[in-house]
Amino acid sequence: MSRTPFIAGNWKMNKTIAEAEAFIAALLPQVYDTEGVDVAICPPYLALAAMVDSARGSRVGVYAQNMHEADSGAFTGEVSAPMLAEIDVNGVVLGHSERRQYFNETDKALQQKVPKALDAGLLPILCVGETEEERERGDTERKLRHQVQEGLDKVPIERLPEVVIAYEPVWAIGTGLTATPEQAQDACGFVRALVQGFDKEAGTAVRVLYGGSLKPDNAAELLALPDIDGALVGGASLQADSFAAIVEAARG
Ligand code: PEP
Repeated sequence: MSRTPFIAGNWKMNKTIAEAEAFIAALLPQVYDTEGVDVAICPPYLALAAMVDSARGSRVGVYAQNMHEADSGAFTGEVSAPMLAEIDVNGVVLGHSERRQYFNETDKALQQKVPKALDAGLLPILCVGETEEERERGDTERKLRHQVQEGLDKVPIERLPEVVIAYEPVWAIGTGLTATPEQAQDACGFVRALVQGFDKEAGTAVRVLYGGSLKPDNAAELLALPDIDGALVGGASLQADSFAAIVEAARG
């Protein structure tokens, strides 16, 4: 089964529209011939429309970093799936550990958000991962099982292959600590097996990404692992050159 590698850059709360425009102008010439790799940037909401315009016709997709599960309503400060779809955003990161940790994102909300994104024509990247304490207690698999099963619970079986799952150990995000190849492969293989538990073929087709201090120097080793189909990249996605180097590493 061949799965197209996918490299997505999560900018978090970084880059004004002007800075985002400078980034995309520098990135596009570096990735225009990277056949066989799907590439996406995930800018803050305010830069989404500008990035959709600037990336149009290129191989770079544009993803939001979050969305609300309702289509509209009294949810001050929130943005919905139809609003993102209207401006031609391609997808959305859901359940990032920073949203879980600082903004009370819950598995219950994610259960609604994942199918809602698919219904609106947005590809969801569902983030899962254990904390350092959970890993030390031997609870990594229990945590991943819970997050994957809750997040995918309301996704129709035939749409499961469209969901992208990012395994991001919380202790590796923004810390400079990267999972060892063995830890990353074991966890990503376990996530795939969980999706195979819903449906064998869907689990084989679904793309599982690794995220957590991935950089140009460690990308090739991690991206070559059998159950790792790409990466969700934070810090190293903020410079066009390092992001392009990671995209190049995904070509194998
Ligand atoms: C992330 O925020 O999804 C991430 C993986 O960050 P970093 O690459 O900076 O660890």
